[in-house]
Amino acid sequence: MRYQRSNKRLMKQVNRRSILRFLWHHDLASRAEIARSLQLNPATITNLTRELKEEGWLIETGDGDSSGGRPPILLKLNHETIQMIGVDVGIHSIKFGLVNGAGIFLKSWRMDKAEIRSGDDLLTLIMEGIQNQVSNLETILGIGIGMHGFVDRDKGMIQYAPAFELEAYPLQENLENALDCMVVIENDVRAMAMAERWFGLAQDVSDFFLINLGDGVGGAVAMGGRIQSGGAQMAGEIGHITVPNHDGTICRCGKIGCLETEISSAALARKYRQKTGKLCENGKVVYELASQGDSEAQAVFSEMGVRLGQALGLVVQLLNPKLIILAGGVSQAWDAFAPQFLVELKRNSVNRAYRETRVEPTRLQGKTGVLGAATLVIEEWMEDQEGDGE
Ligand SMILES: [Zn+2]
Repeated sequence: MRYQRSNKRLMKQVNRRSILRFLWHHDLASRAEIARSLQLNPATITNLTRELKEEGWLIETGDGDSSGGRPPILLKLNHETIQMIGVDVGIHSIKFGLVNGAGIFLKSWRMDKAEIRSGDDLLTLIMEGIQNQVSNLETILGIGIGMHGFVDRDKGMIQYAPAFELEAYPLQENLENALDCMVVIENDVRAMAMAERWFGLAQDVSDFFLINLGDGVGGAVAMGGRIQSGGAQMAGEIGHITVPNHDGTICRCGKIGCLETEISSAALARKYRQKTGKLCENGKVVYELASQGDSEAQAVFSEMGVRLGQALGLVVQLLNPKLIILAGGVSQAWDAFAPQFLVELKRNSVNRAYRETRVEPTRLQGKTGVLGAATLVIEEWMEDQEGDGE
């Protein structure tokens, strides 16, 4: 087990972890219920839960249903104690958050990136970002990193991050060694999907697709409750499908005519400039103009809605997800592109599939990336419990 070093106190005994995992999934339970479900001796449960309570992992609450006699005391996780650090490494900034087990942000901060020329530059920035704000890492369950580009989560490697021209960098191992804390890395959009699965719109949906509309355009596929990575870690990379009638812009992947080069935040600014000759910093500014009634800015979003509807029509037909979540900064311009988008989505999918697909912008707003990164830690931690007999 690769993060044995950290949280030894917590990780020591599989029974303690089983109890914590059980409560994570069940919210509230009596000692008798836990003993029954885990097939453990009630006396063992009493001892272990006393220990966990003393250490602050559990709290006692209210009275449970009773069939006469004294009502049982219920236990729940003390989400205040369970803390993770989420790091969202984007193209223009690194965002950090200290997040508790209930998905609440205790603290959040960001760094605008200095130049990153090597994996070690990135490592140093992340280390500094964490050490400047969190003095005691011993109380942290782990650090999750959502990283733009192609990431091999199992190997803990950044395979390729085009914005920094990083290739084959073992970020997980190096950061674990530097900070002596469990680290998980994953592609940023897949991490966002994880945030939706645990804390957002997809809590009760196991088949869904998330599209991130931001500086880049990416996607994540969840099937059967699991986020898929694919043979080359590229499942869901919808930003790099080729679209018709593109304007010939070369994508950062090297191809021409990618969806990303037509609908990303930067693309919206470029489209506006092509129409008006006026410079716009990014898609957010175009959206502000559209909201103020600028008809050219509105046209940019209408056209974007059409392209998005065409692309997600493919997704509806290919995956038949129950839910499509739109995340990222551009998704907040929902009202500007939704009318054309929904018309086009319907036109590009079979009625039956369209009717059964819920489409919504995220409700986690700008927090999805960091929360998703923090959620990687919970997920890894839980997964580790499953097959770990110690
Ligand atoms: Zn591309």
